[in-house]
Amino acid sequence: MVFLSGTLGFKCPQALAFCSKIHMDFKPRTRSLHNPFSRSPPRELLPTEDGSNITLQEWQGWGTTSPLPTIVTRIADDLKDLEKDSDEKMTFGGKGGKIKGDFKKQEDKKHRETYRGLGDSEQKLQFFSARQIACRLVGSRGYLCQKCWLPHEDCMCSKVTPCKLWHGIRFWLYMHPKDFLRQNNTGKLLWQLFGVEAATLCLFGIAEQEEIMWNAFKCSGKDKVWCLYPNKSGVVKSVQEAFDQGLSTDLGFAETTTNGHDILNFVLIDGTWSNSAAMVRRLKDQAKLAWGEEDICFISLAAGASAMHKLRPQPSWDRTCTAAAAVGLLYELQLLPKFCSIGLDKQAEAIEDTLAVLLDALTARRLRMGRSITRKMRHHSDIC
Ligand SMILES: [Zn+2]
Repeated sequence: MVFLSGTLGFKCPQALAFCSKIHMDFKPRTRSLHNPFSRSPPRELLPTEDGSNITLQEWQGWGTTSPLPTIVTRIADDLKDLEKDSDEKMTFGGKGGKIKGDFKKQEDKKHRETYRGLGDSEQKLQFFSARQIACRLVGSRGYLCQKCWLPHEDCMCSKVTPCKLWHGIRFWLYMHPKDFLRQNNTGKLLWQLFGVEAATLCLFGIAEQEEIMWNAFKCSGKDKVWCLYPNKSGVVKSVQEAFDQGLSTDLGFAETTTNGHDILNFVLIDGTWSNSAAMVRRLKDQAKLAWGEEDICFISLAAGASAMHKLRPQPSWDRTCTAAAAVGLLYELQLLPKFCSIGLDKQAEAIEDTLAVLLDALTARRLRMGRSITRKMRHHSDIC
């Protein structure tokens, strides 16, 4: 289904796709869903008796310090209303974790109507993102561990040893909504390890989080913001080009410089390759709004970067896995004289160790469920 088209030009949603097996009771109703952008006062956010509303605490428990996004709340409330009046069981499951049954058609139809009624492409993008996220929040509640995004029975949290990222670096996980709460997502590992301030989630199309990210970028200045992106466009620098000679200012590497102005911000695109073009385009558009030009610097890892270290556990992860991109960046920075004494290699190793823990947890789960763990399966498991 082509659900979203237009200026941002990406196709979507396999509606309500997420990995879980969750049952909720729904009864299709004929009313339209609310326009989430309407100016009607926000509804009560406190939990109702059945605990259905998403609270700020619950939202932030998934790995963010941002406010609860208004549109996400409204869409989740609509889902909750449908659930309340239902007498039909709705099932999430199967490949991609989609809603099954007749309810799916009705729910899709209503959301398409809401979508068509929205004014512009920006609202449509925000609605698409919020809907994806709201459905994942509702469906994953009580099923996934909030910290590691794995089902509770597979929780890997006890095997992760948090460590400190060098204070002069901040990662931004710019995540596509379809990757939010995905069990095999690896971007989440970065804030599991380094904390949400050093590795910050920013969901594509969620205004509250994008605003936080861009406020930080404006504070740092455009010469302290880089986006990791494969070298396809010809305007991408290598790490060495970007840092060995490109910075004329004193980076202020002293231990005391933690005021935001000296922090190097690295954006990691956390989504599938097919979605990444739209995400990069949005970054450029927002750079233009912030700085008056599409001037965000893209850097790419060296072709032989993964050969410099032994990336565990799967060589096939190295180009598609977000956490491994962070590993490669830290190792490449480590090679430069100005960064060589910081210990970035130790922090890269910590990411690698955590990646190995995730692979073990995913593999154990598949084995327990009687699924294949062949090499072919691993290649198709879309770890990202
Ligand atoms: Zn966990």
